[in-house]
This record gives sequence, structure tokens and C-alpha cells, in this order.
Amino acid sequence: MNRKYRKTVIAGNWKMNKTPSETKAFMNEFKTIMPKGRWCDVALCVPAVCIPAAVRAMRETRVGIGAENCNANASGAYTGEIAANMLVDAGCKYVILGHSERRAMGETDAEVNAKVLTALENGLVPILCVGETLEQRETGITNEWITMQIKSGLNGVAEDKIRKMIIAYEPIWAIGTGKTATAEQAAEVCTSIRTTVRHLYGARIARSITIQYGGSMKPGNAAELLAQPDIDGGLIGGAALKPEQFVDIINAANQE
Ligand code: PEP
Repeated sequence: MNRKYRKTVIAGNWKMNKTPSETKAFMNEFKTIMPKGRWCDVALCVPAVCIPAAVRAMRETRVGIGAENCNANASGAYTGEIAANMLVDAGCKYVILGHSERRAMGETDAEVNAKVLTALENGLVPILCVGETLEQRETGITNEWITMQIKSGLNGVAEDKIRKMIIAYEPIWAIGTGKTATAEQAAEVCTSIRTTVRHLYGARIARSITIQYGGSMKPGNAAELLAQPDIDGGLIGGAALKPEQFVDIINAANQE
């Protein structure tokens, strides 16, 4: 982390877990044990039906609520989809885009890019996820692959908008598997992402953008990962479902 130049953001991704009632229970417990100081930003990205309960519960706090996806179109005949302006109106601040689990369902780089542009136009903070498979890592093409995903995801994003974004490096082989990238592996890719942003937008913007690591981050490994200068936070799946574990990770970020 480098607090002098950029925000540290700890964000939870609940995926398809918890009902609205369970959301309320989680938030009430979380609020009682949440650290009071304000070193890092905290976000919880929850299933769409849980957004109202999450927003209501966290209204008086500094925790931002987010969604896990949005549609690239403004409105229309897209049954089952949710537009960015609906998320804003519901009280969301963040939206996760291009998560590998959605890419595995067929989401393309072009679609992710269109969603990033729409989210930014509507004032949401997109958390753009990128990551390689184990096979890509083993064939030595991790950095090329991630660079391609970054360039494609940021295509057409203006300089004044990129500052609002978060990029999350999430090696696919580490998500939900219990296998964490070593701090060295995670740091190497996050540094390479910053270099790509520097080539695209210049040194000042590259220095100010928040780059998270995600992939089995938990209380036991968070401090080491967050100590890396180019890792500015975490995108956390499993450990964000338990208030005390999520708080432990926030505390690890606050201590660095
Ligand atoms: C994720 O879903 O983005 C994630 C990183 O999950 P986990 O922490 O469970 O690996």
C-alpha cells in the first residue's frame, strides 16, 4: 500500500450468498465490531436483492455498498438485468465488473468494457477484475494476458474517469480455492498493472489508482499481501461472509 498517493480499499464480494434477512443480521453484527478509525475505505458488494437491506443498515456508516454486476445498456428489453442508474438510485457506490465467475459464464472483454463505461457515466466506482488461469500462469503469459484485459477493459475511459476506478487482480486459480498467490506473485502482477496504466494514462494517474489483490485473502495472509507497495487493498470473497474475518482484514489494512 502507499497511502500517500492512493486509497486503500477493502471490498467484500458476497457472490450468490445471503438473503436480505441474513444481510441485515450480518450488517448489524458488523457494525458492532467495525473499526472506528478511518484509514481505509470499506465496501461490501452484495446480491442485487440484498442491496436495499445493506444500504439501510449501513446508512450512518462509511461503508459503501456495491453490486456484483450491471448491464451495459441504459434501459430496455433486457429481462432480468439491472442498469447502472438503478444501482445508483438504490444507494450503491461500487460495482464489480468482469469478475472471472461472470467471464466464465460468457462475458467478453468488450462487454466488460461497455459496462465499465456505463458504470462510470452513472457515477459508480467500477471494480474491474482481471486475472489469469493456472494454465496461462504456467505457460508464462500472465503479464501479457493481464495487460490485454486491462487495455480492453479501459478502452475509451477518459483521464478524468480512470481516477475513480479500482482494478482488482484476481488470479483465477486462487479464487475460492484456498490457494493464495504468494505476496511476491501478487505484487509482481499488481506492479505490472500499474506500469500498464502508466503507459496508457501517465505517471500521475498510475500512481493514484487503487489496485487490489483478490484470491483467498483472509486474516492470516492479509497483512503480508497488503504490505506490498503496489497492493492497495483486497477484493474478498469467502472471508467477507463472516463479520469477524472481514473486520480482521480491515484491521490488517489499518495497521500497515
Ligand atoms: C472473489 O470472489 O473475488 C474472491 C477473491 O473470492 P475468495 O476470497 O473466496 O477467493
